[in-house]
Amino acid sequence: MQLFADYHTHPQGHRLQRYRRELLQPWVDAARARGLSDIAFTDHDRYCAGVDFDEIERLREANPDVKIRAGIELDNDPTHSEAGRRWVEEHWEELDFVLGSVHFLERADQMFDTVPHGAEQFAGRDIDRIYEDYFRRVRELAATGLVDCLAHLDLVKIHGHRPQSAVRDLAQGTLEFIASSGLAIELSTAGWRKPVNELYPSDGILELAIEKRIRFTTASDAHSHVQLGENYHRLAAKLRGFGIAEILVFESHQPQSRAI
Ligand SMILES: [Zn+2]
Ligand SMILES: [Zn+2]
Repeated sequence: MQLFADYHTHPQGHRLQRYRRELLQPWVDAARARGLSDIAFTDHDRYCAGVDFDEIERLREANPDVKIRAGIELDNDPTHSEAGRRWVEEHWEELDFVLGSVHFLERADQMFDTVPHGAEQFAGRDIDRIYEDYFRRVRELAATGLVDCLAHLDLVKIHGHRPQSAVRDLAQGTLEFIASSGLAIELSTAGWRKPVNELYPSDGILELAIEKRIRFTTASDAHSHVQLGENYHRLAAKLRGFGIAEILVFESHQPQSRAI
């Protein structure tokens, strides 16, 4: 099994950096070195001003052996993502792929997936209620019609908090909605470098998604090109274990199935 696609990458990292050759070429070089032939740039929507579609086009021309997809990670950020959604609408035709992500719960001013502060949002709280609230927000984002795929579907587990109810039951309605909308879910190795130390999503959700015939992208959520395709050997083993033999790539928002 050869995994060849990474559909969650952040060339800008955690600050606004205009796309230019020196920023992007190392990502293509790293992809090639790791045997990846299809990558999507999906910077956070709050850095959308850095995305330059002409620069991506020039990069494609210089690297015809690697498919380079123009994408964005659209957040549920109460402060910035209204502008992000407008930007996605304006640039829909130029974008190949939009990831939808929930990083905000009740607190509008703080991503819950940060340490130590984000983790404090869980202290002394009813974890089942937090999971319900989280999956409701994922569903809301899926319903905007502006995303092709949901990122790190059970990010709410990041700090290791587990609900008393089965996660399957908590995620059921949201997965049903994702399936009926024809949206994809990413399999993200990023969970393996977080305290929870587990793939996003968990086996229980993965099983349920397969039952509902939801299809998957493969992703590392790399914030540096050295993280591209990180832990893909572990991901390949997981896919084999679940009998997944095809993944999705996207061109102009059109999902295409590819054997792995
Ligand atoms: Zn994210
Ligand atoms: Zn990301």
